[in-house]
Amino acid sequence: MAKSEDILKKIISHAKEYGFVFPSSEIYDGLSAVYDYGQYGVELKNNIKDYWWRSMVQHHENIVGIDSAIFMHPTIWKASGHVDAFNDPMIDNKDSKKRYRADVLIEDQIVKIEGKIKKEVDKARKRFGDSFDEEKYLSENPRVLGYNEKIEGIKNRLYPAMDGNDLEAIRQLIIDLDIADPVSGSKNWTDVRQFNLMFSTRIGSLSETSNEIFLRPETAQGIFVNFLNVQKTARMKIPFGIAQIGKAFRNEIVARQFIFRMREFEQMEMQFFVRPGEELKWFEYWKEERMKWHLSMGIPAGKYRFHDHDKLAHYANAASDIEFDFPFGFKELEGIHSRTDFDLAAHEQYSGKKLQYFDPELNESYVPFVVETSLGLDRTFLSVLSHAYTEEKLEDGSERVVMHFSPVLAPIKATILPLIKKDGLPEKALQIFDTLKFDYMCQYDEKDSIGRRYRRQDAIGTPYCITVDHQTQEDNTVTIRERDSMKQDRIGIDKIRTVIDERLKTDP
Ligand code: ATP
Repeated sequence: MAKSEDILKKIISHAKEYGFVFPSSEIYDGLSAVYDYGQYGVELKNNIKDYWWRSMVQHHENIVGIDSAIFMHPTIWKASGHVDAFNDPMIDNKDSKKRYRADVLIEDQIVKIEGKIKKEVDKARKRFGDSFDEEKYLSENPRVLGYNEKIEGIKNRLYPAMDGNDLEAIRQLIIDLDIADPVSGSKNWTDVRQFNLMFSTRIGSLSETSNEIFLRPETAQGIFVNFLNVQKTARMKIPFGIAQIGKAFRNEIVARQFIFRMREFEQMEMQFFVRPGEELKWFEYWKEERMKWHLSMGIPAGKYRFHDHDKLAHYANAASDIEFDFPFGFKELEGIHSRTDFDLAAHEQYSGKKLQYFDPELNESYVPFVVETSLGLDRTFLSVLSHAYTEEKLEDGSERVVMHFSPVLAPIKATILPLIKKDGLPEKALQIFDTLKFDYMCQYDEKDSIGRRYRRQDAIGTPYCITVDHQTQEDNTVTIRERDSMKQDRIGIDKIRTVIDERLKTDP
């Protein structure tokens, strides 16, 4: 088994064992690509939401939030292009009976070739040492040039085929590239078919025929259709943003990699409305801002990278993803898109209502352009969880699993532990718990030996364990154990707050 798969498996089982993420409907053998968040998972998720909301809404005088409904008028999805174009091309392997996204199979080939280029560069760097000029090597080495030509060749066939909805050409590319089913190795493929990713349901009485509605596949449209409501009632001046956190639903063909690709998930989106012509400036601004936000969570910069899109969606004139180095490699975490006036103009057309902004400085009305930042909450959760997960060998030869969460995201900030379950220590510990519980998410734990209790807190990433012992009753001091260093200090009860606050200072 590949090492990365091994790590992902460990993270999944840790997430289940410690109440972060459970498979949905588990007692009925689960429901594919649907997950439930447990007692610590929901705290971590709420902390991530709060961290995002504070940085986007609270810290910007020109961004406000909304919470729009999941059900919306079905024509919205016609206007947005989702009814006609929110499709993925799928292909089945006749032998393994597995279904794949045809474009993903092809893009995986490109990633493989890029991996070969990287290997060549690494080899050359070792060979040439300090004198190695990577740029020159990339532009001159015949093997690298050959690989790049191959990648270009694939892209030049894939993108026009995707744009032109030429399913036969996509299939032919899979055949020509000799792509095999990653599970069975078989090359016995069906035709490529289009598959719409929206879930539909019915509203009202069953006898009506035209009552089909969709579960929203993105939260963005709820913002667009409320654009004027918000602009007018909050008296917003362009440039301004509307943010929203909420559920989205996609009937994903390939549902794998744990909570990375789910059929029900959450998005944290912000649509920023700007003057036409200024969108690319704002696009660059938000690219940078969003990267800064990710880095502020304490995860090293090497774990993130931008991926600028060669192939743009029908609504965009620039697009870039922030990718994260998940246990299964670099994959999209957040999309930053310059969506032009596509959405607002389409809603004007379909609804027959004007969605224009009067710009007092220019003394004219126009349909604003939009730059969107669209982040998956569950993917952020997975990035934080997978980075935090660490197996450590301790000096005494024992091992511990510790979640090195940034304290601001940690589900529990402090746990209060009586050393033993008698002599008035539990009562004293509960008193401390009662004074801290209004400001921090705390726990009280008296079960098992103190060592096992510390391990349990390490496994859920609690930054501080506060232990009440016999000395506490004499001088009102406790020991405070720090998660990462495992160092224990003796401090007065009145100092606990200062220590915790110091660690929580990180701000988005
Ligand atoms: P992908 O190419 O991985 O399918 P996408 O480009 O379709 O993603 P967007 O439509 O840009 O994704 O959605 C914005 C964000 O929502 C993504 O960056 C991702 O973090 C999140 N997201 C999208 N689909 C899913 C899903 N099925 N499960 C979890 N998160 C998702």
